[in-house]
Amino acid sequence: MQRPTTILPSALSAIGDTPLVRLNRIPQREGVLCNVLVKCEYFNAGGSVKDRIASNMLLNAEAKGLLIPGKSVIVEPTSGNTGVGLALAAAIKGYRCIIVLPEKMSAEKVTTLRALGAEVLRTPTEAAWDDPRSNIMVARRLAKEIEHAVILDQYNNPDNPLAHRVTAQEIIDAVEAGVALPRTGTASKAAPKANGVPHSNGTEAPNGHANGLTNGHANGHAHDSDEAESRVVDMLVAGVGTGGTISGIAARLAEPDHNPDVFVLGVDPVGSTLALPAALNELAEGESSAYKVEGIGYDFDPASLDKTRVSAWIKTRDDESFEYARRLIRDEGLLCGGSSGSALAGAMRWLRPGGEGWESIGSQKGKNVVVVLPDSLRNYITKPWLVVDEEATGDLETRIARLTVK
Ligand code: PMP
Repeated sequence: MQRPTTILPSALSAIGDTPLVRLNRIPQREGVLCNVLVKCEYFNAGGSVKDRIASNMLLNAEAKGLLIPGKSVIVEPTSGNTGVGLALAAAIKGYRCIIVLPEKMSAEKVTTLRALGAEVLRTPTEAAWDDPRSNIMVARRLAKEIEHAVILDQYNNPDNPLAHRVTAQEIIDAVEAGVALPRTGTASKAAPKANGVPHSNGTEAPNGHANGLTNGHANGHAHDSDEAESRVVDMLVAGVGTGGTISGIAARLAEPDHNPDVFVLGVDPVGSTLALPAALNELAEGESSAYKVEGIGYDFDPASLDKTRVSAWIKTRDDESFEYARRLIRDEGLLCGGSSGSALAGAMRWLRPGGEGWESIGSQKGKNVVVVLPDSLRNYITKPWLVVDEEATGDLETRIARLTVK
């Protein structure tokens, strides 16, 4: 990470400046030739992309006098991560904080919220957004009944998408700087970033050059001449919940000084109704509208989602989402959560040979695709999808023998 080595005034300053990391195995194995770069949002202080909007909404509300420390009560309906971001900021600033989230959201998120001092109320997952039992409606009711309650309202607050101008700028800066060389052990030869700090802190070489197919082993050379190397983001891929992430990042990337032609792929789970054209949202025979991936998909269009920013939509299933999340962890060492797998599943299906984006982007060496990884495996530690391998049972000698047998 590129954070300056200074003392930060509080954990709120440890939000942002997340790493942009190149994938070295998954796309290559699928025959994808462009660069696939992932924005690792789980490095934020509270563990997700939503820390950015939580602190942005809270600080701006304070600046406008809408929130008063020690007096106002923060109430927010969320799928959990915005709640964690708000609870973190509330803990630091001294606000009472009430988070209303659907029962489907993980126990890990609830534990984190409670540890941060938030009061948690869970609502039935199956309640439609306008049902009085939904997390949105219950939060509105609480806000009416509790004195000095304020809903920052991520679904309608412009500070949600606007927070992601910063996310986009970080991506632009990293892509313009290019791939850093690994640290060699003595002096680093890393390509300087804007602030002159080497990017990589690993001892292993990057896995082949930026626009080449690799065999999955570190083979030691950074990208060489790279005549086709793009220094812009050619495509953005993000899972969509409130839409703040995709709309906000896309808006900045598409500005004239970067890439007005950036292609934006929105990822929406089967069962949600955000995708366009609407026919994409129709359920096939035997498909259910319930899905397990957390944080993406809705049954209404949030104002924070600007669909005009999305070039195309792709629907993802739970099984492929969890499969790609496991691969990101196991094959790339990226400790992400389930919706990160959805975003990568969508990206790979779009980019691979035969996919809709193969000719224009997937086959183009040196083009840059950025995929957002919103949260961390920390939120899903007890979920069955994350359990890959159980330790063998039996006494210690038996278990040792299992590992040592060739
Ligand atoms: N993934 C996870 C795990 C999330 O919590 C969220 C936020 N709901 C998203 C993706 C989608 O982000 P956004 O709300 O900005 O569309």
